[in-house]
Amino acid sequence: MRKQAIDKLRSVFPPQRFSTSPEDLITCSYDASRQEFRADAVAWPQTTDEVSEVMRLASLEGFAVYPRGAGSGMSGGALPVRGGLVLDFCKMNRLIESRPEDRLAVCEPGITLGELQKWLKPDGVFFPPDPASHDFSTLGGAVAECAGGLRAVKYGVTRDYIVSIEAVLPSGEIIETGRTVLKSVAGYDITRLLVGSEGTLAIFTKIAVRVLPIPEKVIALLGYFAGDDTAVKCAQSILASRILPRAMEFMDRGSLECVSRYRDFGIPGEAGSALLLEFDGAASAVADEAERCEDVMSKHGASNVRRAESDEEREELWTLRRSISPALFRHAPIKLNEDVCVPISRLSEALAGFRSISERLSVDIINFGHAGDGNIHVNVMVDERDPDELRRGHEAVRQVYEAAVRLGGSISGEHGIGNVKTGFLSLELSPVELELMRSLKKVFDPKGILNPGKIFVEEGS
Ligand SMILES: Cc1cc2nc3c(=O)[nH]c(=O)nc-3n(C[C@H](O)[C@H](O)[C@H](O)COP(=O)(O)OP(=O)(O)OC[C@H]3O[C@@H](n4cnc5c(N)ncnc54)[C@H](O)[C@@H]3O)c2cc1C
Repeated sequence: MRKQAIDKLRSVFPPQRFSTSPEDLITCSYDASRQEFRADAVAWPQTTDEVSEVMRLASLEGFAVYPRGAGSGMSGGALPVRGGLVLDFCKMNRLIESRPEDRLAVCEPGITLGELQKWLKPDGVFFPPDPASHDFSTLGGAVAECAGGLRAVKYGVTRDYIVSIEAVLPSGEIIETGRTVLKSVAGYDITRLLVGSEGTLAIFTKIAVRVLPIPEKVIALLGYFAGDDTAVKCAQSILASRILPRAMEFMDRGSLECVSRYRDFGIPGEAGSALLLEFDGAASAVADEAERCEDVMSKHGASNVRRAESDEEREELWTLRRSISPALFRHAPIKLNEDVCVPISRLSEALAGFRSISERLSVDIINFGHAGDGNIHVNVMVDERDPDELRRGHEAVRQVYEAAVRLGGSISGEHGIGNVKTGFLSLELSPVELELMRSLKKVFDPKGILNPGKIFVEEGS
């Protein structure tokens, strides 16, 4: 960035909310994709007008701007890959209003999803999207990535709960998409276009979300199976029995072995896979669903089935699921964490395909994830000190994407394209769709100053 641009930015923010110091630049130089890129400056906006002023300057001076939430993104979406200014929203994090009578809440983008739930609880409502990162990831990040998570099987994903967005365009103009009502079909749905846009079309400064009543009762069930196939068939039978769990998590043998080495969860040594399910709703209905589900599980040979009703018991079961990620890091220095999504009916084929990729390329692949919506986290485990293993790992990732697309699925169920999957988007999208998307980007951002280097392969490269 030119000195003149930095000087002008200093006049927009008080000194404690603008920095070019190496310490501050390092803190916003990485995310959960484990890449690192250094910005020229970072600012912590607190008002829509500040964001608008920044974009007017960026448009005039031609520097790049990268919106950032908590930096928990898995695809490099918030990284300043071309240098420029990071706008970190952690200080723009208020719940503006809770309107339970309208089934709505209005928030600033930097609020974490965990804080949002805490704020909403006294009003008896909750925000259903539930990425496993909810304790620290922000609402702005969830909207930009269209985060999915654990409850998507019943409640859907972030896009299903965003009612209206106040956003600053790359030109600095401020728009408010839709109305803060639960139904509106006036014109094109720009709100939906912005959800999942990965910070490339506009910067969100205020978000109205739909909320639902907190369910009366929650029950969790955990059961172990002989292998991938039996667990998947059981999951499919449960869904076919007109039972709708709010969560349906699958863990393969590799995940269970890693977790057992990490902590003693009492996982039976012979377990070849596991399903963790959760039901919510009216107390009598939930008890009935859980009971019917236990029957289906036992028909599919589930062993050591545990039923958890209190918050503490349920938390214990979820700790097992949440421990997989940290446990995998102890298994190999690098996990190439992919999040493909396939039709639920083709899960068994997908898992068999991933196993054969693993055998063919001699790389360890460990699978777990959201079986209820076909979104599997495929972890290709590699040691980067072995260049050939690293190369085979990346080849395995390509083949995993190809397999998912062949089965009618997607290369990313919830983590987004960012800068890590740009080269693979054409596996899934036709040239016409890609061109339409590029054209939309140009309409919003003709100068290419907002979050450049994301989603699309740069023209000419
Ligand atoms: C342990 C762990 C578990 C996870 N589990 C899940 C899961 O279950 N489901 C799931 O979907 N994801 C999951 N994720 C991925 C990640 O947490 C989500 O993508 C999350 O929504 C990112 O939020 P963030 O605040 O960290 O955003 P960041 O990583 O900071 O940014 C993500 C994107 O949002 C954009 N952005 C941020 N704020 C704004 C704004 N105000 N306006 C416009 N664009 C903005 C950024 O430019 C970037 O493109 C997990 C990550 C971790 C580390």
